[in-house]
Order: sequence, then C-alpha cells, then structure tokens
Amino acid sequence: MNTAPHALKTLNTFGVEAWAQSLHTLHKPEAIAPLLDQHGAPDLLLGGGSNVLLVQQSFQQVWLNRLMGRTVLARDTRTVRIRLQAGEPWDAAVAWCLAQGAFGLENLSLIPGCCGAAPIQNIGAYGVEIAQFIHRVEAMDLNSGAVHHLAANECDFAYRHSIFRSPEGKRWLILAIELNLSATFQPTLDYPGLRQLDDQNAAAELTAQQIRQAVIALRRSKLPDPSLLGNAGSFFKNPIVASTQLEQLLSAYPQLPHWPHEQGAKLSAAWLIQHCGLKGYRQGDAAVHANHALILVNHGMASGAELWQLAQNIQSTVHQKTGVRLEPEPQILH
Ligand SMILES: Cc1cc2nc3c(=O)[nH]c(=O)nc-3n(C[C@H](O)[C@H](O)[C@H](O)COP(=O)(O)OP(=O)(O)OC[C@H]3O[C@@H](n4cnc5c(N)ncnc54)[C@H](O)[C@@H]3O)c2cc1C
Repeated sequence: MNTAPHALKTLNTFGVEAWAQSLHTLHKPEAIAPLLDQHGAPDLLLGGGSNVLLVQQSFQQVWLNRLMGRTVLARDTRTVRIRLQAGEPWDAAVAWCLAQGAFGLENLSLIPGCCGAAPIQNIGAYGVEIAQFIHRVEAMDLNSGAVHHLAANECDFAYRHSIFRSPEGKRWLILAIELNLSATFQPTLDYPGLRQLDDQNAAAELTAQQIRQAVIALRRSKLPDPSLLGNAGSFFKNPIVASTQLEQLLSAYPQLPHWPHEQGAKLSAAWLIQHCGLKGYRQGDAAVHANHALILVNHGMASGAELWQLAQNIQSTVHQKTGVRLEPEPQILH
C-alpha cells in the first residue's frame, strides 16, 4: 500500500507546502457517512483552497469537496430557486445561473472557490453578498452524521461572517446551497467601479451579462491571479469600529476612508496598511502586494508560517500606530 503523504501545494491558492496523510475526494453525498464511520471527521475540509492559510504543514485526514450538480428547483414570475452542490466551482455556477434567467449573482462573478464555501464567510463583492440570496444551506453534522437544513436566519450572516466560521459551526460539512434568485434583472451599481455603467447605458438597456463582464474586467485588472502569484485575495477584513473611535481616528487621519455601519463605521484596512508604510513590504518570499496593501502574496517559496508571521507583523504595526486591530479574512490553520 502506498502511504506517501499527499501534497496540498496545488490545492491552496497561496501555493504553500503542506501534506495530508490521507486525502479523500467527495464525489457523492451517500459516500460521506461511511467515510465518517470509518475514519472520523477530517482535520481539514477543502473546496478551492482560496480562503485558507495552511500554517500547519501536516494533516492527518483532508477531505476535498467535489460534490457536483446544479438544479433549478422552482420558478415563478419573481423568483428562481436554485440548488448548487458544494463542490461546484463558484464562477461557473454564476454563469450558469445567468443562463437560466436567474439574476443577482452577477456582481459576485470571478470569486475563486466552490459553492459550498460561499456562505462560510458570506462572500461579497461590488456591493452584493451571498447572504442576500441564501434560502437554506444543506449540511451534515460531522459529530452525528445527520443532515440538516439551516434556514438563512439560522446562519448568523454578517460582513465576512456566518455561523460556519464560529467554533460551534466547525462541525458542519456543507453539502449544497439553495438560493432565491430574481426572475427579473435589477442591477446593483452602487460600487464606484460599476457606476459608470449606469452613465454609459440607459438603465433599461443594461444587461446582467454586461455587469458580469465589467466585474470580470475590473477584477482581472486589479487582482493578482493566484495561478501566477500565490494569494488568497484580501487578507484582512475591513475593521469595524465604534463611532467614538472613528472620531479619534479622523482627528488624527482626516483622509481615512470609512463607511457607515450599524456598530459605528467600517474602515479601509488597505488604507491603514498603506499608511503604515507596509505596501510592497517583503520578508523573504512572503510579501504585501506592491499595488494592493490588502493582499499578501507568496513570491514562490514562502511557507504558511512565514506568511502568518508577516500577517502578525502587519497586525501589530497597524495596532501600535493607529490602535486598530486587523482580523484575518482567510481561515488560518495552525
Ligand atoms: C484572487 C482572490 C480573490 C478573492 N476575492 C474575494 C471576494 O471578492 N470576496 C470574497 O468574499 N472572497 C474572495 N476571495 C476569497 C475566497 O475566494 C472565497 O472566500 C471563497 O468562497 C472560498 O472558497 P473555497 O472553496 O476556495 O474555500 P476553501 O479555501 O477551500 O475553504 C475556506 C474555508 O471553508 C471551509 N470549507 C470549504 N468548503 C466547505 C464545505 N463544503 N463545508 C464546510 N466547510 C467548508 C474550509 O475548511 C475553510 O475553513 C478571493 C480569493 C482569491 C484568491
């Protein structure tokens, strides 16, 4: 029997070295319960590996979610109910939904990863979050093997957060998501990069495909391609601070970008990092992207531990200088 460990380098978009003693690819939901009985819960679950930093280098058991399937469950004049199995690549699912005349996900085009991970950090981009469309999430409780349906209001969705990111939520293996999409196209163009579409086109003529193509073009022009330069997208969440802290910060840094939030204000993490002189900062092969202060990159041979060390140095520099604590967006696996 071949007991050589399985390399995880190509299964995480940071491209860091790590290994699994055993690697199981999930193709069919009915194969999961026997796997769970035989081996117990995995110590790492992966979809596209685009929102993880593998600091730990050796894992006992890794499961790769490749459950495939897309279905239109129901349709009326207002709503199209869609079911997407967890292993479906996200961007292909967005394109497929548009082809079914199911609208709403176009602003979330080209986000890497799989559908099962989309609710975990409540993926968001260009003024839209997946939580707006979740009807329910089908998930297996890895403690019992039982399958449950969690309604959207049980998922505790917030900015880059859901119950699945909480310590008690780690027991869920997401099998599928069900979305309520719109049967009619209503553009969301609040984000500055998309507003020009409104000016260029009479709103009535604008199509969801045009928005999708504009989002793809914007993302390609701005974000590093992980197949060329290892990264996990934004490494830090935009921090949320109380109004009193915002006032203090604005008196010291009048140019600090901020947006209203129910708890006070959301700040630009990128601005804070740049302000601390860390844009382009490099420690070996671990670096802050030269054009994007929010994106940490692996120039080739950085380990997960080196990237995490860099992230912690950024956190402490920003905290010492501004008093603001930055929280990582990817899951850090120690
Ligand atoms: C270039 C780039 C741009 C990005 N842009 C955005 C963006 O605009 N907005 C945004 O929100 N995110 C963005 N991301 C982050 C990332 O793409 C998303 O968070 C995505 O949803 C992660 O999907 P994944 O399948 O790769 O998850 P993985 O990285 O495989 O997993 C992430 C976490 O979810 C868990 N997990 C995965 N699948 C399951 C499952 N089926 N059941 C239970 N747990 C599971 C994993 O254990 C891990 O803890 C970007 C990433 C990159 C590299």
